[in-house]
Amino acid sequence: MRKNNIKYIYSFGGGIAEGNEKMKDLLGGKGANLAEMAGHPNLQLPVPPGFTISTEVCNFYYQNKKKYPKSLKKNVDVELLKVEKLVGRKFGDNKNPLLVSVRSGARRSMPGMMETILNVGLTTKTITGIIKQTGNERFVYDAYRRLIMMYSDVVMEKAAGIEPKGLGIRKELDLIIDEIKNKRKIIKDTDLNILDLKNICEIFKKKILEVFGKPFPDNHKEQLWGSIGAVFSSWNGKRAVSYRRIEGIPDDWGTAVTVQSMVFGNMGNDSATGVAFTRNPNNGENKFFGEYLINAQGEDVVAGIRTPLPINLYSNSSHKKLTHSLENEMPVLYKELYKIQNRLEKHYRDMQDIEFTIEDGKLYLLQCRIGKRNGIAAVRMAIEMYKEKLISKDEAIMRVTPAQLDELLHPRINPIMEKQIHPIAKGLPAGPGGAVGMIVFSADDAEKWASDGKKVILVREETSPEDVHGMHSAEAILTAKGGMTSHAALVARGWGKCCIVGCSKIHIDYKNKLFTTHSGKIFKEGDWLTLNGSKGNIYAGELPLIEPDLFRNKYFKEFMKICDDVRLLKIRTNADSPEDASIARKLGAEGIGLCRTEHMFFNPDRIKLMRKMIIADKYEDRVLALNELLPYQQSDFEGIFKVMNNLPVTIRLLDPPLNEFLPKEELKKIELAEELGIHISLLEKRIKQLSEANPMLGHRGCRLGITYPEITEMQSRAIFQAAVKIAKQEIKVFPEVMIPLVGDKNEVKHQFEIIERIAKEVIGKSKIKLKYLIGTMIELPRAVLVADKIAEWAQFFSYGTNDLTQMAYGFSRDDIGSFLPGYFEQKIFTQDPFHNLDQNGVGELVKIGIQKGRSVKPDLKIGICGEHGGDPSSIEFFHKVGMNYVSCSPFRVPIARLASAQAVIKSKN
Ligand code: ADP
Ligand code: MG
Ligand code: MG
Repeated sequence: MRKNNIKYIYSFGGGIAEGNEKMKDLLGGKGANLAEMAGHPNLQLPVPPGFTISTEVCNFYYQNKKKYPKSLKKNVDVELLKVEKLVGRKFGDNKNPLLVSVRSGARRSMPGMMETILNVGLTTKTITGIIKQTGNERFVYDAYRRLIMMYSDVVMEKAAGIEPKGLGIRKELDLIIDEIKNKRKIIKDTDLNILDLKNICEIFKKKILEVFGKPFPDNHKEQLWGSIGAVFSSWNGKRAVSYRRIEGIPDDWGTAVTVQSMVFGNMGNDSATGVAFTRNPNNGENKFFGEYLINAQGEDVVAGIRTPLPINLYSNSSHKKLTHSLENEMPVLYKELYKIQNRLEKHYRDMQDIEFTIEDGKLYLLQCRIGKRNGIAAVRMAIEMYKEKLISKDEAIMRVTPAQLDELLHPRINPIMEKQIHPIAKGLPAGPGGAVGMIVFSADDAEKWASDGKKVILVREETSPEDVHGMHSAEAILTAKGGMTSHAALVARGWGKCCIVGCSKIHIDYKNKLFTTHSGKIFKEGDWLTLNGSKGNIYAGELPLIEPDLFRNKYFKEFMKICDDVRLLKIRTNADSPEDASIARKLGAEGIGLCRTEHMFFNPDRIKLMRKMIIADKYEDRVLALNELLPYQQSDFEGIFKVMNNLPVTIRLLDPPLNEFLPKEELKKIELAEELGIHISLLEKRIKQLSEANPMLGHRGCRLGITYPEITEMQSRAIFQAAVKIAKQEIKVFPEVMIPLVGDKNEVKHQFEIIERIAKEVIGKSKIKLKYLIGTMIELPRAVLVADKIAEWAQFFSYGTNDLTQMAYGFSRDDIGSFLPGYFEQKIFTQDPFHNLDQNGVGELVKIGIQKGRSVKPDLKIGICGEHGGDPSSIEFFHKVGMNYVSCSPFRVPIARLASAQAVIKSKN
């Protein structure tokens, strides 16, 4: 049977390895990279020998009631023998014993989610051997007490599924150490002497016997298999499972287990351990960057027990004078490490995150992986690696995620300051960037405080639609409950606001206006907090924020340029004012895809004229009011045309139902009636006439211009008079007039003829040449179905995917705060359709409309101006279906440039 031939274990060490970097599925990221570092001919780095038990064993283990494949025990013995030969020590031997670490590692890194146990194989029998071998009794007892601590916590408590008694064994043992330190009046662990450590180990063992009813295992094999089982168990630990849910990691990937011979960074002052990056992960600079600790074991650097030192002058991020860098203390080893990191980066062609240990003057590599980086660093590294010819242009573009680029557009916490303090709690990163503010516990308070000029952070159990005003006023939102699709997360993402949700470690007391953290710290209303919404970290106090400095960031500019080289979609922006248009242009917009004319009417100067026009029930009165509005509209368009010199500008004719311009409150109605000199009953009659049961449907869009052609005439006149005037100033103007909400060919024809008549008249009079287009929005399902007929008239299509989604689904964007969170909870929907195009639904409509439209006009220009124009996965879809451009809000323009370039590269591969 084939089954017996399955290879479950892959060894590495001594310059060769059975695995390699490509085998992450089988060996996990850690195991695969250890094999690569140890065995690849270009690397052959000093990696302590070991072997990796594959993820297949993990799956076998869970499918067979936590049993291993039959051959595994024997295979492990065989592999151990190989390691023993390479190292020259024997596992369990009383003279020259080998110790191992048992390490977890899944296909994708799951930081802090699974377990690793060090110093496995220390028993009363082997201890004496090691003491003789190393001549360092203190070191051995320190290693022993670490093993007892890790093992009792990970194997005896967590993996065994035992409900922690009291504080849990880890805390209990910590307390024992604290007690002894107090008695001896010492502060640092390193000041514990041999006697202290021996004493600690004995008390530990007694405590363990008392808590678990069985002794700490004094047999090396039992320790090894206990540890292996615990690593496999940790795959299904609570933390790991919920992490997988959030990250979308499948349960059946499983973890691998690497058993590796130990090297010791805690053997004295010629030993050390550290973590380093081949480039600076905070800003992307191409400089070797890292930290280390002398006389310490692995987890000490990360655990924050002792403050690590910089490995070189460059890495000295504290303001204190640099005292003991690795470069100064161990110059030869530093040089060796420096060379290795260089080779690693060249080999992997990406920034590497490296774990190393120095044992008694000899350097070992314990891990490498692609290093995490923030948005600023990602952009700089991508463009610099491309220029160094380390990676291709396409690779550089794929190295930056849209979310990382988004980080560059928001204020963020100064990363150097952030590194120096610990978060008080963590939640899910639901809205990017950093924010600082004072705590408030209700939406009303948020609004009140903000209107007094205070910066606030709204802290809630969870949010609901009633909180939206307060959420808007707040710098950031923090909730104790809810996931990435909760109300707070959806709303914040829509606004691009900093937000952290699901922070279960805080306990909110609304009555007393305070919250308590897990460790018992109390935060009251008015206390300052700082949030990192990109990471989900919450800090006490006010950390300094760095404002985005995009326009001065040369790496950003260069990176955007290579994206532009590759992409095929044009990127336009939705802008209603010269100011917005100008920002968008600086961010790379190649035109305006949607200029909404109604926003101009809401301006207080003009709303009066607008209302006069709406209330008029005679044509003549309406025209009078419209003529007064015309110069305003014209000057708005002039401003926009000027800013958009040389680029197309799509202007949409009046779209919302007219009642939106009329007052709703009684008092305001009386005021208006007085102002217009009409009787209140007349006003009320008119309001009633114009009212819509559903404000999203009915008498709006092109229907306004059809019942009141004079509105379309006035707007067309304003557009073309502005265009002609600006074109005379040596500015290139390309107006595109867009008819909204059409569902029938005759609607288009009716409006088209008016617009064209006015255009010809105005341009003819001016005696200049001006190119223009007249097109339509496609936002009703019917428009999609008759798109071929509409295309007989329309010179371009622009998809209004917001309305199209609304009409297709039967609910509006505002429902995001009402029933949709419940839909997500019950998994009816997994995505917000107003944010991510539903490719089987609304996307299918988009496709049909394009096919029908181009069946009549093969070159028909087609774009999209809905919310989806700024959503990367939707952009990929628009690229695939052959659109000409996407239009999005100004600050999404860079993201759209990146996403459309990535779409090209993805469709190539
Ligand atoms: P994580 O996935 O949490 O980073 P690791 O398996 O990398 O866990 O182990 C944590 C730390 O333990 C490592 O950074 C390393 O310093 C130390 N470590 C692991 N294996 C060994 C070993 N064989 N010798 C010395 N230190 C080790
Ligand atoms: Mg590690
Ligand atoms: Mg619309």
